[in-house]
Amino acid sequence: MIAILKPGTTPEQTQHLVSWLKTMNLDVHISKGAEVTVLGLVGDTSRVDMDLLKSLEMVETVKRVSEPFKQANRKFHPQDTIVEVGSARIGGGYFAMIAGPCSVESEDQIIEVAQAVKASGATMLRGGAFKPRTSPYAFQGMKDEGIRLLLKAKEATGLPIVTELMNISTLDLFADVDVIQVGARNMQNFDLLKELGKTRKPILLKRGLANTIQELLMSAEYIMSEGNENVILCERGIRTFETATRNTLDLSAVAVLHNLSHLPVVVDPSHATGKADLVAPMACAAAAAGADGIMVEVHNNPACALCDGAQSLTPPQFDELNRKVQRIREVLV
Ligand code: PEP
Ligand code: MN
Repeated sequence: MIAILKPGTTPEQTQHLVSWLKTMNLDVHISKGAEVTVLGLVGDTSRVDMDLLKSLEMVETVKRVSEPFKQANRKFHPQDTIVEVGSARIGGGYFAMIAGPCSVESEDQIIEVAQAVKASGATMLRGGAFKPRTSPYAFQGMKDEGIRLLLKAKEATGLPIVTELMNISTLDLFADVDVIQVGARNMQNFDLLKELGKTRKPILLKRGLANTIQELLMSAEYIMSEGNENVILCERGIRTFETATRNTLDLSAVAVLHNLSHLPVVVDPSHATGKADLVAPMACAAAAAGADGIMVEVHNNPACALCDGAQSLTPPQFDELNRKVQRIREVLV
């Protein structure tokens, strides 16, 4: 349920109302915009007397929120959420260009790629240390050593780092990681989401291979309901009957998510297409669709990559992609 307050309601009046609502065992989320304040009520709202609430002097309207996601809902929080990642920001007009290899492979590799993508305008460095692979015989990532090397690359370049956590038992290793990624395969690992909700780390939540937009938002809700509002959504392609691409990039998800939610939306054209030559066109399309960021795989030697070489760009290709994306963004504003 949401209650929209009349313009001119004083902070004291708002606090008074919030205290009263809290006596009904409700969580109250206050979203203060330039014009109006929206109170989002979470919990068992069946006990709230809507007519009584509506009749209060300071209340403009009261509405039930029919969607099952509440805190991720734009009705609760009409303004775009801006997630702060160190000195970088994402959402509400701030755009993130996240680039780096699929996996961290060596110190030289990650530092070389980090320096190259930074020089081309990346705002964050990605790199997998714990890799969810379809085959148990495939390279599983450098694990804790991979995180250590990412931190070295962060020190060398100043770029905040984004890396995937697969198991909550390794959370301590992520203390200095800037953004924790939840991969497509873990989007509905609810215990993991709840634990990440207890942290205050920005979480990049990737859409599952066969999950709906509503299911993605419900997974965001798992994180937010535990108190962590720093969620970044990521469209990375879904499984369809099409085999020309690794997955099918659902670009309409960007616009749909922006309608339904205030959370920033990133597009990953690398995992969506699986082919390096399709990455730049889809990155441009994502920027044109209003994405708040792009995440692309870049490798200094894609032919020798231990994972996802076919979809990885070389640093010069990334440089060109970033120029194009920035030009598209200029047209949009
Ligand atoms: C990744 O970004 O490294 C990754 C494994 O992607 P996804 O979870 O989308 O497959
Ligand atoms: Mn990959």
